[in-house]
Amino acid sequence: MKDRNPEWKTAVIDNNGRGDETGRQQQEKKNIATEKPVTTHVPQPATGVTERRFRQTNLPAHFIERRKRPRISTEQRPPQAPPRLADYEPIIGKPELDEIRFLARHLRGKTVKMVNSTAVGGGVAEILNRVVPLMNELEIPTRWDVITGGNDFFEVTKGFHNALQGGEYNLTQQIKDIFMAYTEQNRQRMEFAEDLFVIHDPQPVGLIRSRSQNRGKWIWRCHIDLSKPHPGVWDFLKPMVEQYDASIFSAPAFARQLASPQYLFYPSIDPLSEKNKDLPEEYVSKVCDDFGIDRSRPVITQISRFDRLKDPVGVVESYKLVKKYVDCQLVLAGGGATDDPEGAVVLQEVMEAAGDDPDIIILNLPPWSALEINALQRASTVIVQKSLKEGFGLTVAEGLWKEKPIVAGAVGGIPTQIIHKFTGVLVHSVEGCAYQIRYLLTHPEFAAQLGRNGKEHAKENFLITVNVKRWLLLFQILLGMAKLNSTL
Ligand code: UDP
Repeated sequence: MKDRNPEWKTAVIDNNGRGDETGRQQQEKKNIATEKPVTTHVPQPATGVTERRFRQTNLPAHFIERRKRPRISTEQRPPQAPPRLADYEPIIGKPELDEIRFLARHLRGKTVKMVNSTAVGGGVAEILNRVVPLMNELEIPTRWDVITGGNDFFEVTKGFHNALQGGEYNLTQQIKDIFMAYTEQNRQRMEFAEDLFVIHDPQPVGLIRSRSQNRGKWIWRCHIDLSKPHPGVWDFLKPMVEQYDASIFSAPAFARQLASPQYLFYPSIDPLSEKNKDLPEEYVSKVCDDFGIDRSRPVITQISRFDRLKDPVGVVESYKLVKKYVDCQLVLAGGGATDDPEGAVVLQEVMEAAGDDPDIIILNLPPWSALEINALQRASTVIVQKSLKEGFGLTVAEGLWKEKPIVAGAVGGIPTQIIHKFTGVLVHSVEGCAYQIRYLLTHPEFAAQLGRNGKEHAKENFLITVNVKRWLLLFQILLGMAKLNSTL
C-alpha cells in the first residue's frame, strides 16, 4: 500500500493499536465499550458438541501421567532444504506462480542486497532464509549480508529496538557514537554495487550513508512496531530513514510521518515450513499423545511466549468460564521461559491461575518445536490469541492458514488478519473471549466457515509467495519499470 496520499496517512495513524496498554484490565476497560454485552445473548447449542454443566473430568490415568510428564523433544532436527518455487504450485496454483515468474522476468539480472543483523534466530532471518533462495531461483541475483558489531553495539541496538517500540531509554552522545562507529566499520567492510538494497530494521539503517557512491535504490524494511517510538531515538534515526527511496512497515498503525514514500507489506508465513506444512493425521495424534491431549474432547489452544501482553492468565480465566458449560481442554504452549526471567515469572503466574485443573495443559517448549506447534495448532478446535498488545501476531496467520476458527484480541496487527465474524472473531475482555469460544464450540458449522474464510484470507495476503510478489512489484516501481496506479 502506498503512503504518499496524506488521507491514507491520517487514516492509518488513527488506526488501531495505539493505546498505551499497561495491563489487561486497563486495556480491556478501554476496549470493552465496543464489546457486545455478553449476557444478553445465550448461545444456542447446535449439533456437534453438547453443552452441559461440566464439573469433573474423569480423565483416564494415561492422560494424567502424560500431562505430568509430557514427552518434549530434546534434540534439534537437521534443517530441511529450502523449497523451490514449483513446490508452491499445489498451494497457490499455476496462474499465481506464472504471475510471479512474469514479474520477475523484467527484473532478470538486476542485483539485490538484503542486509540485517543476524543470520539465525528471529523472524527476519527466517523470512530471508526463504526469500533469498526464491529470488535467486527467479534469476534476480540476491545476496544476504549480515552486519557485525561488538557487544556494545548490540546492547545499543537492543536498547533502540525496545525504545522504538515504546520503552524508556536514556540516549546519550556516547550511545550515538557507538552506533555510528559500527555503522562506519560495516560500511568500510561491505561493498555496495547492487541495483537494489533492502536494509532490514534499525540496526543497519545507517548504511544509507553509502548511497552516494552508487546508483542503486535503497529500501528500509522496518519489522518492528513504530507506532509510539521513543522521541529521542526516533529523532536520531529518522534523518537516516528519510534518505531511503522507500520505507516499508508491517501494519498501517506503524507508519510514521516521513518525507519519503512508505509502503505496507504484511509479514508472511511459509506454507511449506515445518511450522505450517500439512502433517499426516498420525503425527498430529502422536504429538497429542506425547502431551496428554485427549482428542475426543474440544481443544482450545494459545501458542505464545509466556508474556503478560499475550495475556495467558486471561486465557485461563476465559477457559474457566467456558468450562462451566462445555467439557473442553486448554493448551497453553510457549517457549523461552527457561532463559527469560520474566517469562519464568509469567509461567509461574499461569500455573497458579490454572490451579489443579487437570484439563489445563501448560507446555514450555524448546525453540526447535516447529513441528509440534504445527501439530498442536492442527489438533485445536479453537485457537485463541488473546493479546493485549501485539505487533502483527504471526500465530494468528498460522492458525488462519490451518483453517481454524480463531478468537483474538482486537489489538495491533490482529484486526488486519481477523475480520470480525468473517475470518475469526475479535474480543476485548475475558468475558468476551469466553463467550466467543463457547459460541464457536457449540456452533461448529459457523466455526468451520470462519476457518474456510480465514484460510482464503491468509492465502491472499500472508503467504511468502505474496511477499515475493510485492517485492517484485516494488523493485519494478523503484527502478522506474512500472507505474504505481493502485495499492501495492
Ligand atoms: N512460537 C514458537 N514457540 C513458542 C511460541 C511461539 O515457535 O513457544 C512461534 C509462533 O508459532 C510464531 C512466533 O513464534 O511463529 C511468534 O510470533 P508472533 O508474531 O505471534 O509473536 P511474538 O512472539 O513475535 O510477539
